[in-house]
Amino acid sequence: MASPIRIAIVGMGKIAHDQHLPAIFGNDAYRLAATVSSRGEAAGGVPLFRTLDDLLAGGPEIDAVALCTPPQVRYDLAQKAIAAGKHVFLEKPPGATLAEVAVLEDYARAAGVSLFASWHSRYAAGVGAARAWLAAREIRKVSIVWREDVRVWHPGQAWIWEPGGLGVFDPGINALSIATHILPRPFFLQEGTLFLPANRAAPIAALLSFRDAHGVPVSMDLDWRQTGPQTWDITVETDAGELKLSKGGAELFLPTGEHKSEDHEYPGLYARFADLVRAGTSDVDIAPLRHVADAFLSGRRELVEAFHD
Ligand code: NAP
Repeated sequence: MASPIRIAIVGMGKIAHDQHLPAIFGNDAYRLAATVSSRGEAAGGVPLFRTLDDLLAGGPEIDAVALCTPPQVRYDLAQKAIAAGKHVFLEKPPGATLAEVAVLEDYARAAGVSLFASWHSRYAAGVGAARAWLAAREIRKVSIVWREDVRVWHPGQAWIWEPGGLGVFDPGINALSIATHILPRPFFLQEGTLFLPANRAAPIAALLSFRDAHGVPVSMDLDWRQTGPQTWDITVETDAGELKLSKGGAELFLPTGEHKSEDHEYPGLYARFADLVRAGTSDVDIAPLRHVADAFLSGRRELVEAFHD
C-alpha cells in the first residue's frame, strides 16, 4: 500500500473541525501532519503553526494542504503551497475570482502537483443517483430553492458579507454545484436580481432565471432570511415525472419512490483527492463559480433593510 499522504489543514474554523478532521482521521490514505491557525487552534496532537510560511519553512514534511480559510485569502496560500511542491485541496468556492483559479490551475500543472477544487454537495447521498436518473430523461423545468437562516448557519462570519465572501451565494453555490453536475446540459443566466442589505457588500437574497441550450428554464430562489423550516431543494420536471432532491442533496425522491443511500460528502471528497494525488492529475471545475460571477456581473441590485447579526 502507498504511504499515507501527509496533509496539513490551514484555517481551523467551523468546516475544518466539523468535516475535514473527521474525514482525514477516517481515511488510511492520510496522516494529519500539522495545523495552521492564526488563533492557535491545535488538533490531533500534531504540530501547530501560526502561518503557512512558518510550516513550510520549519515544519514537518508534508505532501498536501487542505485550505479551509475564507475564499478571499485562499489564492496566496494556494500559490505558496504549490510553489513549495505541495498538492492543494481547495474548500469551496475555489477562489474569490475566476481568474485567480485559472492561474492556480496553470501553476499546479507547471509544478506537477494536484489541485482539487472541491464541491462537497456533489457527494451528498442522493446526487449520484439523481444524475444517473436524469441522464436518460427529457427535462422540462428546473427549480432551485435554497432558503436558510443566516443567523443559524453563519453567526459572526464577517468575511461572508465582504466582497469575495459571496453572501447568500456561499450556500447557493452548493446548489449550483449540484445542478451543474446532475443536469445533462449546461445552462446560463438570463436575468437576476440581487437583494443587498443597505449595510453589507454581499447579497442576502437572490432571484435568478437561467435557461439551457434547449430553452429549458432553470429558476433559482436564494434567501438567507428564512426562519423556521429550512429549504434546500432542487426539483426537476421530466417526461417521466418529477425528481426532487431535498436537504441539500441528502434525500432523493423519484416517481418510483424514495432512493436511499449513505451520506459521504467529505469522505467522498478526500477519497477523490487521494485518487488525484496518486494519479498526478487535477480536478478544477469552475462551472458553479462562473454562474455566481455571472449573477454579480449582470444581476440587478435592489437595496433591502440593513442586516445585523
Ligand atoms: P470560519 O468558521 O469563519 O473559519 C474560517 C477560518 O479560516 C477561521 O477560523 C480562521 O482560522 C481562518 N482564516 C484565515 N484568514 C481569515 C480571515 N481573513 N477571516 C476569517 N477567517 C480566516 O468559516 P467556515 O465556515 O469554516 O468556512 C470556511 C470555508 O469553508 C468557506 O469557503 C466556506 O464556504 C467553506 N464551507 C463551509 C461550510 C460550513 O458549514 N461552515 C460547509 C462547507 C464549506 P484560524 O483562526 O485557525 O486561522
